[in-house]
Amino acid sequence: MDWMFLRWMFTVAAAGCGAWLGHAAGQAIDLPRVGMLAGVVAGASLGMALDALQARRLLQWLRDAPARDAPRQSGLWGELGHRMERSLRVRDRDLLDERRRIEQFLSAIEASPNGVALLDRNGQLQWCNSTAADQLGLDPVGDLRQPITNLVRAPEFVAHLQGGDSTDAVPFSLPGRPGTLSVIVRPYGDGQHLLLTQDITERQRTDEMRRDFVANVSHEIRTPLTVLAGYIETMSQVQLTETERRRALSVMAEQTNRMRSLVDDLLSLAQIEGSPRPPTDRWVDVTSLMQRVERDARSLSSGRHTLAFDFGPGGAIAGNEAELMGALANLVTNALRYTPAGGRVGVRWLRRGNGSCALEVADTGPGIAAEHLPRLGERFYRVDSGRSRETGGTGLGLAIAKHAVRRHGGELEVESELGKGSVFRLVFPPARLR
Ligand code: ADP
Repeated sequence: MDWMFLRWMFTVAAAGCGAWLGHAAGQAIDLPRVGMLAGVVAGASLGMALDALQARRLLQWLRDAPARDAPRQSGLWGELGHRMERSLRVRDRDLLDERRRIEQFLSAIEASPNGVALLDRNGQLQWCNSTAADQLGLDPVGDLRQPITNLVRAPEFVAHLQGGDSTDAVPFSLPGRPGTLSVIVRPYGDGQHLLLTQDITERQRTDEMRRDFVANVSHEIRTPLTVLAGYIETMSQVQLTETERRRALSVMAEQTNRMRSLVDDLLSLAQIEGSPRPPTDRWVDVTSLMQRVERDARSLSSGRHTLAFDFGPGGAIAGNEAELMGALANLVTNALRYTPAGGRVGVRWLRRGNGSCALEVADTGPGIAAEHLPRLGERFYRVDSGRSRETGGTGLGLAIAKHAVRRHGGELEVESELGKGSVFRLVFPPARLR
């Protein structure tokens, strides 16, 4: 209230001075009272003019640059300016805090691996993160305030959005784009909707592979089981001759072995998949690995093939000995199984140009037509099912080899031509070699 008293004092003093000066001037023209009145009016006007000047400066500040400090003035206008400046500063700080919080929130959503989009009550796009933009083919700026059903033209997506209240994930594919997405729609606020999208292409592929795998395993096991069940039934109902009994037992043993091989291969695959990555500091000597494979190969071939082992530069591979052994043994066993008697199977360890090395198994067998090459290494993929089963194949040998070499940072390479034999190579990167 100080300013009120001062302002009052100033106005009274100005009016008093004006009255005194006016009275003195009025006496000179014999009109002292008129002079005094004019002096009072002039004094009071001076006070008002000062007020108007200060008010004008404050108004100018408000109009032009309220972000700067308010004009430093005394009295009423000074206090008004000071209080306005303070409340503007508080408002600016609150706005800044609010904006920072929103930015943090949006960057957290932006970092989400899932797509997030916000729709207003009319189904128009309000905001979306870059994952949603990428997955749904949206322009996060240009498409704002556009109806989402005009932007995403997948029938399942549109039906789900218009269909109402289900909050389940619905799979859909965008016309002209590969892969499958899923969308969850959740209502929030005043009729707005939150869209959560996810790329489920990989998950669907894995599910499909798992289903195929289970179907394949069941099929592989059912065939020998059916044969065994048939023989058991026959033997329990019919009196067989000694020759028939021997024949039946031989077929039953063969089918049992087939199932055992299948289970062994399944266990090898499961073990490879379930175990940690092969160590990088355990060295497997290549020459002794090849010598062991050579011993097994000679016994399996029993002199039916010409076998040639070339130990090349020697050295060692960093990794898991059992996995490396399994991978090479599968390739050599295949070469022996598929190459007719009299053929040649060569195994060599060779250095390649870019510092990598390879274990190579070449045979003079039937070869493989080009269309099959990309699918070799898939579980249960067989080029010639009859021949594979005849020779005790499980359809998993190349899958095991491919998986094992990949876990060592390498690749399985195949070169083959129908009628001209095949070359299978386990290629290892320099980082795994010594
Ligand atoms: P399988 O147990 O049937 O041999 P693999 O996974 O080891 O299963 O091999 C997959 C398929 O690749 C085989 O069924 C066979 O048709 C073909 N294959 C593999 N190795 C050779 C080879 N050395 N020569 C010709 N065909 C081969």
